Amino acid sequence: PVHIITDSKYCIEGIVNHSPTWEAKGWIGVANKEWFQAIISWARARAALTTFEWVKGHSGVPGNEEADRLAAEGARKPPVGNILLNPKERFLLNGAQISTLDQKTIYRGIKDLEQINTRRATAHHLQLTKAAVLFNTGLIPTSARIWMTIRHKNNRRLIQTFLWRLLHNAFRCGEWWKNITGFEERKLCGICQEVESIDHILTKCKSPARQIVWNLARAALQKKANHDPWISLGTIMGANLIEAPPAQGKQRPGTSRLQTILVTESAYLIWKIRCERVIDRGPDPANWHSEEETKRLWHKTINRRLQADIALTHPRVPTTKRLKAKEVLNTWSGIIKDEDLLPDNWITAAGVLVGDLNPLTERFILDHG
Ligand SMILES: [Zn+2]
Repeated sequence: PVHIITDSKYCIEGIVNHSPTWEAKGWIGVANKEWFQAIISWARARAALTTFEWVKGHSGVPGNEEADRLAAEGARKPPVGNILLNPKERFLLNGAQISTLDQKTIYRGIKDLEQINTRRATAHHLQLTKAAVLFNTGLIPTSARIWMTIRHKNNRRLIQTFLWRLLHNAFRCGEWWKNITGFEERKLCGICQEVESIDHILTKCKSPARQIVWNLARAALQKKANHDPWISLGTIMGANLIEAPPAQGKQRPGTSRLQTILVTESAYLIWKIRCERVIDRGPDPANWHSEEETKRLWHKTINRRLQADIALTHPRVPTTKRLKAKEVLNTWSGIIKDEDLLPDNWITAAGVLVGDLNPLTERFILDHG
């Protein structure tokens, strides 16, 4: 265990008492948030306990006097630019839990992001989304409508947050690293040696995991309705506004809802796998996610999503959140394992799972860019 002694009540209170609330609010408007985030992530990354104790400053406690002397010495030095706090990202919650925020806070959060010069990026991503929706539906949505739809109840909380970050291009990858002295090389994708961006990670990277995940999503939609969705950054961000086209022969109700779920969940899974690879798995491809592991992760994610849908049909769920059994049946029918052997209303049957889908690994349609 690590025992930290400090004379700062502000630090202890922030770390121990306030951080859950700050984290839920996406750290919007929190002073010194970079420092708190780094400390919390490192504390969480430890297996053992971290404890804090407050002592009165300038009262002769030896360690405290020495820390004070070093701090004063540091303060007299010329200021340095970027101090790399190096937070352990996987131990931090990503973004704000949108449902905990009121509009004023969201607006402040957007202003915070603008300060790190992402305003142009946000406008660009909104444009991409509009273009993709226009291409698929013939209609251009307003920006307000795009922001609204990411909060649709089809998206679980983490997906809402992910889409929100996508629209703001608020990810630590690629150009984000270019001004961080000593870490400029992190700007490049470790697989392709090109400048990384969220677009690269989700739709262009040569990472086998990325290709397997998209091929699984496509295989599911092909199995359900013989539909092959167009995957791009715009169609991911606009997934809640894009409908599956009425196809000849095999069209099924619920295809659009399934498409929204599969596209957003698959994109989020690709981002998660990429972060795990970069942060935990190191540069040796032998340690990266194998095809088997990737397929297992995808099936696990999608099956969890199916179970969440089924749970929301329960009569005890409040009516505002409850899903109609019919809607859930329509969404998932066609890709359920042993569906023929299940009753028509399989929602009440135990152990319903998405069937094993084989990714079309020999065909990498997404390698267009
Ligand atoms: Zn790449």
